[in-house]
Amino acid sequence: MARILITSAIPYINGIKHLGNLIGSQLPADLYARYQRARGNEVMFLCATDEHGTPAELAAAKAGKPVAEYCADMYTVQADIAKRFGLSFDHFGRSSSDQNKRLTQHFAGKLDDAGLIREVSEKQVYSNADGRFLPDRYIEGTCPNCGYERARGDQCENCTKQLDPTDLIEPRSAISGSTDLEVRETKHLYLRQSAMKDQLDAWIDSKIPPRFRNELLGGDSEGWTKTEDLSGFKENPYWPTLTTSIAKKWLHDGDGLQDRGITRDLDWGVPVKKGDQDWPGMEGKVFYVWFDAPIEYIACAKEWADANGRTDADWERWWRTDKGADDVRYVQFMGKDNVPFHTLSFPATILGTNTHNEVSGSSEQWKLVDYIKSFNYLNYDGGQFSTSQGRGVFMDQALEILSADYWRWWLLSHAPESSDSEFTWENFQQSVNKDLADVLGNFVSRITKFCRSKFGEAVPEGGNYGDRENALINELTKRVRAYEGHMEAMEVRKSAQELRAIWVAGNEYLQAAAPWSTFKEDPEQAAAQVRLGLNLIRLYSVLSAPFIPDTSARMLSAMNTLDTAWPEDMAAALSALPAGHDFTVPDVLFAKVTDEQREEWQEKFAGTRS
Ligand SMILES: [Zn+2]
Repeated sequence: MARILITSAIPYINGIKHLGNLIGSQLPADLYARYQRARGNEVMFLCATDEHGTPAELAAAKAGKPVAEYCADMYTVQADIAKRFGLSFDHFGRSSSDQNKRLTQHFAGKLDDAGLIREVSEKQVYSNADGRFLPDRYIEGTCPNCGYERARGDQCENCTKQLDPTDLIEPRSAISGSTDLEVRETKHLYLRQSAMKDQLDAWIDSKIPPRFRNELLGGDSEGWTKTEDLSGFKENPYWPTLTTSIAKKWLHDGDGLQDRGITRDLDWGVPVKKGDQDWPGMEGKVFYVWFDAPIEYIACAKEWADANGRTDADWERWWRTDKGADDVRYVQFMGKDNVPFHTLSFPATILGTNTHNEVSGSSEQWKLVDYIKSFNYLNYDGGQFSTSQGRGVFMDQALEILSADYWRWWLLSHAPESSDSEFTWENFQQSVNKDLADVLGNFVSRITKFCRSKFGEAVPEGGNYGDRENALINELTKRVRAYEGHMEAMEVRKSAQELRAIWVAGNEYLQAAAPWSTFKEDPEQAAAQVRLGLNLIRLYSVLSAPFIPDTSARMLSAMNTLDTAWPEDMAAALSALPAGHDFTVPDVLFAKVTDEQREEWQEKFAGTRS
């Protein structure tokens, strides 16, 4: 039994996510977690809300709530939606938890002990009216380059020029609009990422197949892209080009990897401490959200342990290689925009801590990621999903019109893996009606109803499997092995295609065997065909569960069995339900999407959610 640690990129707290966010990390992570559990492996699947930073403060102010209360409320909303989408986290945590506070302070202390933190004096804009320092993007003014009046302190949206807040003409606070601003000196802590450049470089190199390392460094990664189908973890622990080339670019382009500030002058966040000690000069400051957010991946496991009456050893065996996590395979799921961060900044935190401990003889060794699965973007109906414009389908709205499995199937079977993909209502309608209603739903309905009408609601007795049945068993054996290969390699679309082909094979068998005709001349033979068909429903339930868990549970319940054994031996799997075993005819599994519905929804989600 393998042990697999899975994390999904953690969603930011300020609002409900859209379907593009869902397919970018949480949903494919859930697919993989469910599959690995189904194969009998030990899985720890973690996700959380990312709650610190100025956007949370501003969203809370807009909602008229204290920020802690706002985050607690939004956490409840996000956790509830995740549950209704069938996201099977072992724990859904919060980056504002006490566990994460302590662990973040602990890591900062270790990094400082290792000489990897330096103090920097900076000039920053202070708003007297707001009583706080303003991050660059919360200062607005007129662009000195193009005259645009709503340019931000970090960049002009109109002409794209990079700016410093002091460049702006007539600067004002984006929070209050106040122009009573002044530049003050403030001190911040920086993580010396530049000092870890070589170490990070060597680590990234170890994830590139040796024969491609030179090509990649020479800027020619084409040859490697073509071999991405070799990147499945089991056969090959190397990472896809998309991932390593992004990391290499950040390590080597321009001046290379830069040191990065890990503190902010804000109220809302993890107070800056060195372990459990005060940090002189850092009073009243918090850690920068980028620093504490990924540490929540780890703290989330402690939250899980604490919430379930477990010990520290129970979560540390997933995260500490000196405490039993050596055989853990750690897989991260995320959108491509998150790759630089997960290949460089977070590993710098971990590597920095581990390295120091090697020197001091301490046993504290933390787990680094083994495999990163990253996604491109899902677009919406000829444009982009937009949270600010309310364009596209958001997770709560999706569940108001159709249950989770409709969405899970479409999103996973169209996952933006090798390139961006697009949601259109025509495509959604076609995919639901063909794959789910015609292929899977119709198969289940036909075979159960036919059996009920001719043999009653029990698996019929008599007849034997012949050539046609054995041919199906051979085909399914091949297809299921291919399905396993794709799932293991996290090739989401290929997995969906193979699963669909497995459903189609059953339909084609039923069409060719035609028990409704056979029954007239040879009822025994028809009984054997129907028996196989009913066993196929149980098989489909087991194989489809990672994609459509609710429907799989309904199929299993209709077949009146708790047997979810994976089909290692296809012939045995297709005899699991013996003659005489009772079943019931389930209600329609999937309703078709009508043209009227499609048009109504297209209109409804075109922009500005109400
Ligand atoms: Zn401008």
